[in-house]
Amino acid sequence: MEITLVRGDITEQAVDAIVNAANSSLLGGGGVDGAIHRRGGPQILEECRVLRASRYGGGLPTGQAVATTAGRLPARWVIHTVGPVYARKEDRSSLLASCYTESLKVADELGAATVAFPAVSTGVYGWPMDDGARIALSAVRGASTRVAEARFVLFDATAYAVFDEALTRLTA
Ligand code: ADP
Repeated sequence: MEITLVRGDITEQAVDAIVNAANSSLLGGGGVDGAIHRRGGPQILEECRVLRASRYGGGLPTGQAVATTAGRLPARWVIHTVGPVYARKEDRSSLLASCYTESLKVADELGAATVAFPAVSTGVYGWPMDDGARIALSAVRGASTRVAEARFVLFDATAYAVFDEALTRLTA
């Protein structure tokens, strides 16, 4: 699998699936989640409501992933995953890694060959970018998947630089 990094907006990626840094309610939020629902239109939220009324009555648990349509977005699917809130006193990194590996599993089930990821948990959920990047890249690199390209979409120059350095370190 090829790991690529781009600076940009995840909602603009023409890939098979984009990953949403959702919250457990699946009913929308800020950051990536807000942008996806705003740009993708009401169909995504409708499918999320159906998921809440069926398989995920209690919400989507942290570290898990589930797919919906991508509405009006260029991608075909949105894979929603719930990152852990960062906590200094508790190591939640396996949950963060799980967001990436579970999303790739869902991508495999869908037959998605190209998947775009945001830096899950590094926004409102407070995860330090360098640690979030290290966990993200090693989880994706270590996963066994049929996905051909995992593209990390970093919103600003700082996040891009941090991911670039973490990737260099990982492949050195
Ligand atoms: P979380 O609640 O998991 O922390 P956020 O959506 O708040 O998720 O932020 C996750 C990361 O995505 C942050 O680094 C944020 O800067 C970045 N981000 C926000 N909007 C976008 C976007 N449209 N495309 C790509 N990345 C984004």
